[in-house]
Amino acid sequence: MKKIKLMHLDDLYDLTAQQIINTSVILENKQNPEKIIGLSLDVSNLSEEALQQLESLIPQYQNVQKVTIEKVQHIPNSILGLPSLQELVLSCEHPSQEMIAGFKECTVLKRIVWHNLRSLPSSFYEYTPKLEELWFKYSTLDEIPESIAQLKELKLMMFERCKIRKVSSNVFTLPKLKAIDLRSLGIEEITPLTGLVQVSRLREINLSHNVLKSFPAGLLENLPKLKELWIVGNKITELPEEQIAGKNYERIDLTNNALKVFPGFILEQVKKISFFVLKDNQIKEIPENIFALARQKKCFVKLENNLIETVSQDVEKDVEKHRGLPYPPPRIDIKDNPFFVRKEEIQNTTYRLLIEKQVREGTCVEIASGEYRGSGVLPEEHPLKNRISFRQQCGKCNSKNIFITYAKFTVHLMSGDVYWDYNYHCNKCGEKDDSSYAENN
Ligand SMILES: [Zn+2]
Repeated sequence: MKKIKLMHLDDLYDLTAQQIINTSVILENKQNPEKIIGLSLDVSNLSEEALQQLESLIPQYQNVQKVTIEKVQHIPNSILGLPSLQELVLSCEHPSQEMIAGFKECTVLKRIVWHNLRSLPSSFYEYTPKLEELWFKYSTLDEIPESIAQLKELKLMMFERCKIRKVSSNVFTLPKLKAIDLRSLGIEEITPLTGLVQVSRLREINLSHNVLKSFPAGLLENLPKLKELWIVGNKITELPEEQIAGKNYERIDLTNNALKVFPGFILEQVKKISFFVLKDNQIKEIPENIFALARQKKCFVKLENNLIETVSQDVEKDVEKHRGLPYPPPRIDIKDNPFFVRKEEIQNTTYRLLIEKQVREGTCVEIASGEYRGSGVLPEEHPLKNRISFRQQCGKCNSKNIFITYAKFTVHLMSGDVYWDYNYHCNKCGEKDDSSYAENN
């Protein structure tokens, strides 16, 4: 059975559920072929005759911008000749020279997504000079050859679940390239670029899940516009201060590497750093002034699952403020470090016992994270007593016999400021009142 799916201008026109015997029936059935902007074809089981019919029918779809073709051995010429074709999604293992030559016809093609490629003639790069985005998915290629340099308009290059043995450093010289994803390609080393005099416009580079043992300083030195850098899951042990100081990085993610020493200079010498992620490393100590530095830069430092034993008071206080709340994180996140684990055990036990007691007595229940309501408990018995400074006596008669009936403690989503409010009830005079507090950092 053959499947043909057509996408309509306004909504997705999906015919995959229908079983189609003759392609021409479906294509001719459409009232306004000029309104169709997307075609999705599975041509893998079409007979020669059906393919020829398809060839002759496609030209009427003059406004088609996107075509998806499953398991194609040969792209029908009429598709590559569509005057508005901007995007092509293909699943193909070994495209022939002849098929690649057909790309010369695509005058406005901007985006290609290749699936399952095993080989690609290098003339491909010659015939697609207007390409702006190139995606490889589930592909095993020997290399991205030097002829990649011909894609002068390329802005984005992505690899997803690919194995590429060698990537020509010409990639980094592409004048318009803004982002490149080089994840999980098995890269061990990136040799310094020569002859590239800081012309790259690259803003983002992802080198995660490779086997880099050292920071790719030689490469990064030549990428002056770089703002975001992901090197998650490599084997990096240290950062070269002289190569990074003064750079404009906004985000550096070094999750799951082998760093033992906290690179304090990042917070001092990288101007706009706002996310510095060092989760899952082996750092034992952090600088005494880390909180003040991070706060001054408005930077979040992620240090979960390291080996930190002690922290300064301001870090500890900030962590307390955010404890048990899903978002935002504390300025310096130190969850799952020896320090935090010990504190958490003590705190959790205390809270748990208190809440269990109050739930048993029916006086106070947690209705949401950090929010409690009940018939009332003494301020010193409330689960939020360490976070909220409850009043100790009635505002009207000064009796100390007051109950907290409602309390909520939150940390503001954006600023990280603390906010709380509560209601109390005086058991002597019957006064009911509320109180609230908002911190402005
Ligand atoms: Zn009172």
